[in-house]
Amino acid sequence: MTIDFNANYQLLIGGELNMAENTFEAYNPATEEVIAPVPDAAKAQLNAAVASAKAAFPAWRDTPLKERQMVVSRIGEAITEHAEAFMALLTKEQGKGRGGAEWEIGGSAYWCTEIAKQSLEPQIIENGDGHTVEYRRVPIGVVGGIVPWNFPLLLAVWKIAPALVAGNTIVIKPSPYTPLCTLKLGEVLRDIVPAGVLNIVSGGDELGKWMTEHPDIGKISFTGSTETGKKIMASAAGTLKRITLELGGNDPAIVLPDVNPKTIAEELFWTCFQNSAQFCVAAKRLYVHEAIYDDVRDALVDYARSVTLGDGSHADTQLGPIQNRMQYGKVKELLEDIRQAGGKVVLGGLTDDQPGFFVPVTIVDNPPEESRVVKEEAFGPVLPLLKYSDIDDMINRVNDTHYGLAASVWGNDIEQAKAIAERIEAGTVWINEIHVFGPHIPFGGHKQSGMGIENALEGLAEYTNPQTILIRQRHV
Ligand code: NAD
Repeated sequence: MTIDFNANYQLLIGGELNMAENTFEAYNPATEEVIAPVPDAAKAQLNAAVASAKAAFPAWRDTPLKERQMVVSRIGEAITEHAEAFMALLTKEQGKGRGGAEWEIGGSAYWCTEIAKQSLEPQIIENGDGHTVEYRRVPIGVVGGIVPWNFPLLLAVWKIAPALVAGNTIVIKPSPYTPLCTLKLGEVLRDIVPAGVLNIVSGGDELGKWMTEHPDIGKISFTGSTETGKKIMASAAGTLKRITLELGGNDPAIVLPDVNPKTIAEELFWTCFQNSAQFCVAAKRLYVHEAIYDDVRDALVDYARSVTLGDGSHADTQLGPIQNRMQYGKVKELLEDIRQAGGKVVLGGLTDDQPGFFVPVTIVDNPPEESRVVKEEAFGPVLPLLKYSDIDDMINRVNDTHYGLAASVWGNDIEQAKAIAERIEAGTVWINEIHVFGPHIPFGGHKQSGMGIENALEGLAEYTNPQTILIRQRHV
């Protein structure tokens, strides 16, 4: 079957591809050119998707685990079969370069393969004297998955794979800014996943709201901003939906005084600027010990000057544009705030009027701890470098945020680095490495960075309800 990845983007509802009466436009953020019209699903279409997911649920739940795992593994194979087309489309709609597209599409396939090996075995809690107590995990029913625009396909797969392995059916909504790869995934999977088990609907934020209110959706798995996460939690309360929220962050990276600034500069750069810093776990505050502060700053700036910013479809591009005009406006406003506050910008800081949402790598030298660039999640390539001298004071500053997603510590004294890691209020702390994820590694935020876990058996369990079965063996 040949699929045209360049046109004809449709919803997947009950195994059928559908247009919508209304459409909106998807843009290439590097050129601002329209890529294609995208279906703007009507409420009736969401209702049809949920109804088909609900109808498909009993048979899918009763499908043996091995068969469900096989289907999820086939999803991974199908992504690999179409990897080149997915990568090209991802670059076009999201902006990221080839390296980032390979990481995301390769990762999406790998996740399916690995999640397909997972299962939650029942536990026998009591077994004796004619009495058995079994504790097991059962699927919830229809899951609603709501996805952001920074890693559109990977984050959709992080929801689809465990939901299906656990025996749920799912309705997925991509971000209106990056719907294309996800809609094509639906087309690719149409003959692989039984009708109704996977449904894909595109539309605006309103469509997400309808999902959170829908009485036949039993769980919402959401990745996006903290602000939207709060709205989802409030809305889900109406029907007591289960929720998993993976939200924003203001991750610190901490550099201890015993590192070599030149050795570490490249890794520190990518810690902060991967995916043009449109990464929930990009380091957004870089705390450097005063003994090496100037050398780290200079080495980082030197390395940053060697990195190519441009259209992701060009072979030499390492950093792409900001993904959409709304976010571009937010980042430009932050740059203006830094300028007005008299911030010392040692690199970047200005945008030009060329087409495309390009923001140059911007490094701000030791701004006040209370400034916006330190306190807010920039979600763009604007990084404050912060000086510290005292470890306890630095940890207080690091933890003085309502976010708690991730952090990293860089140093040669592993004992000391680990002692610091243990005092950081965040769900993930990397020591001397960064952005290592795995289908077997639990990931989730503390504080207002989220609720619940994705990945690993803990993540799989989030797509289930617990059930306890108690048996008395006797004649009745
Ligand atoms: P967003 O919250 O604006 O949108 C995310 C999704 O929610 C979109 O599909 C959107 O249409 C939908 N949505 C918006 N309003 C809604 C509502 N009221 N009800 C239901 N759905 C609604 O986030 P974004 O701008 O797309 O993504 C950027 C944010 O995502 C950043 O804050 C980033 O840190 C966060 N993020 C977190 C993780 C993580 O794993 N913790 C990963 C990636 C991104």
